[in-house]
Amino acid sequence: MPVLFIGHGSPMNILLKNGFTDSLHALGGALPRPETILVVSAHWLTAGTFVTCESDPRQIYDFYGFPPELYKVQYRPKGSPGKAGRVVQAVKNTAVRCGTEWGLDHAAWAVLHHMFPGAGIPVIEMSLDVTRDEPYHYDLGRELAELRRQGVLILGSGNIVHNLRILDFEMDAPPVGWSVEIDEKVKRHLLNREHDALIHWRGMGKNAALAVPTNEHYLPMLYAIALQEPDEEIHFTFEGMQNGTISMRSFRIG
Ligand code: ZN
Repeated sequence: MPVLFIGHGSPMNILLKNGFTDSLHALGGALPRPETILVVSAHWLTAGTFVTCESDPRQIYDFYGFPPELYKVQYRPKGSPGKAGRVVQAVKNTAVRCGTEWGLDHAAWAVLHHMFPGAGIPVIEMSLDVTRDEPYHYDLGRELAELRRQGVLILGSGNIVHNLRILDFEMDAPPVGWSVEIDEKVKRHLLNREHDALIHWRGMGKNAALAVPTNEHYLPMLYAIALQEPDEEIHFTFEGMQNGTISMRSFRIG
């Protein structure tokens, strides 16, 4: 099964039709049909790593101050306790546990509702352990490789450049220099398979701290690249900025 990283951007994309959402529809149609989808979410932050093990996960509207229509969008796929158990078993170097107090947040459903509109494929989520550093997340990602062979589509959902303190409320605002600079550096490292540079992103210069003021939206990308096999290319399924500073760069591996 291929591996994806999707820059999810503003929740407004849930209702919009634009180049980004068109790319999600195209991607969903082009992929082999997964048995289950595992989303590594920028919005589930925990001490320790957890997966959702419910058979009927709740839909979480974890965004505030948006138009009421967004809170009416229903996306209710089944969970997969069986595949969640496989995740728990697959990871040997750390403990992954079942988390029963979460569900599917918008990092998962805002994207999947465009990719797989019928909600017919079971979805599980994995949290980010915010007490751990970047190499931990990359190494954990590598341990998920066998799930690909079991029909699981692994999807990291975040944003490479994401600074909510400096953003333009106009979605089509012109891209800002420092955000484009870091996005382009990341692009080059991705194409050159320079994973060390991506793990140690602070080495990309002073603007890296502006682009990644907190790392929770960046980390899901490390899970995706950790799963890149030597013979696998990376394909950008969308490139571009929204709100001036949010990189919507998304890619497929395999
Ligand atoms: Zn987000």
